[in-house]
Amino acid sequence: MTQPLILDGKAVAESVYKKLLLDVSLLSFVPRIVFIRVGEDPASQSYVRSKEKRCLELGLRGETLVFPETLGEDELMGKILNLNRDKDVIGILVQLPLPKHMDKAKVLCSIDPRKDVDGLHPENAGLLLQGKPRFVPCTPAGILEMLNFYQIPVEGKRAVVIGRSEIVGRPMAQLLLNVNATVTVCHSKTVDLPEELKRAEIIIAALGKPGFVKEEMVSPGATVVDVGINRVDGKIVGDVDFEKVKLKAHAISPVPGGVGPMTIAMLMKNLVMAATAQSQKS
Ligand code: NAD
Repeated sequence: MTQPLILDGKAVAESVYKKLLLDVSLLSFVPRIVFIRVGEDPASQSYVRSKEKRCLELGLRGETLVFPETLGEDELMGKILNLNRDKDVIGILVQLPLPKHMDKAKVLCSIDPRKDVDGLHPENAGLLLQGKPRFVPCTPAGILEMLNFYQIPVEGKRAVVIGRSEIVGRPMAQLLLNVNATVTVCHSKTVDLPEELKRAEIIIAALGKPGFVKEEMVSPGATVVDVGINRVDGKIVGDVDFEKVKLKAHAISPVPGGVGPMTIAMLMKNLVMAATAQSQKS
């Protein structure tokens, strides 16, 4: 039996960083990004730490503002407006999830779209929809980068995206559409998901259900990208039954070590892009 191609996100991310180091060396200033974390969610703490660490490694300035869970929405937006006005700040990222009393859409909308390196502002979402992307949400951008790196053909292919969230599923579908895939988006109300999956040449699983995509749902030779991050018995597992599905797939991404590393790599890419745009303006 032929071995599947393992889509190694760590290796692809390293190749992105190599290029970014060069881009950063050409800038006349050190780009600064401010991460905003509200509350003490352990996963958010760890994500922000990894982002800060990567900034340091690339010679970028990453700073984190930490606020208590009780912070008011208006207060948070006031802080964001100050960062919008600060010429020294190139990127602003509000780590999600926000506390329940805050309106996420309203908060994200208060970020200057030219500093919105997470690509979640409606202006950036609209540009992606028009096929003129500026900042694309990092996880789907990373998936497309990974498919390109491994030269997985996308144009004309039947792609099924499982999940329609604003941060992964929707922008993923849009990105695939922009590179001429035939895209189906499935979600919790899809009637016959296994049937949809069987037709797919590319599957992007982003539903947050451990081991949900089984061998019998996948056609031989499909490319399967696993976005899921699920904690099961203290271990991180994806949305795909990796050990069984890999026997059928042409290519498959593992969890961990697949999509995860690409997400931070694309954030850094967006930040360097914002800095380059800024330096061309001044
Ligand atoms: P979400 O909860 O916002 O969205 C889940 C989506 O899956 C929804 O659109 C829902 O309709 C769909 N869904 C749920 N159950 C389903 C079912 N049984 N059948 C079909 N569709 C179903 O989640 P999200 O933020 O999009 O994240 C999805 C997963 O990806 C999570 O595990 C999350 O932790 C992970 N994630 C990983 C990264 C990364 O960097 N690797 C980044 C973001 C999210």
